[in-house]
Amino acid sequence: MRKHEEAVRLYGNGSTQRDIAKRFGVSQSTIGLWLAKAGVVARRNGPSPRSLADRFWEKVEFKPGDCWRWLASGNVLGYGKILSEGGAANGRWLKAHRVSYELENGPIPNGLVIDHACREPSCVNPAHLEAVTQSENCKRGLTGEHGNRWP
Ligand SMILES: [Zn+2]
Repeated sequence: MRKHEEAVRLYGNGSTQRDIAKRFGVSQSTIGLWLAKAGVVARRNGPSPRSLADRFWEKVEFKPGDCWRWLASGNVLGYGKILSEGGAANGRWLKAHRVSYELENGPIPNGLVIDHACREPSCVNPAHLEAVTQSENCKRGLTGEHGNRWP
């Protein structure tokens, strides 16, 4: 049985995402991604709020080898946004592509911005996102190095 299917089975049998992550030696957000791709709706565990990863991946349209469009709300520039942990009262709005990068790669290094290699602001495919310096990002925007849509 493939790992993804095994994860979905375990989750269906009541294992937590944390336990499954430990079993496969991957991060909890990776398990969230597997479940979301399999169309499994993450369940609420008691009164605790759902994790950012759970809320994030259910708002993504997955297309293998293409841009992953953000389906929830966005800002005027076309970037997706999602409320951080803490909810409407204590949370703040995060840029969806930055959240995607961090779920996949860990915290964005200080001083770096996330560049869309595909030039599609609503895209949250981690494979299309790269941490670069602000000046590099401007240069790319001006030279049109990534002028064409991915690939
Ligand atoms: Zn893209």
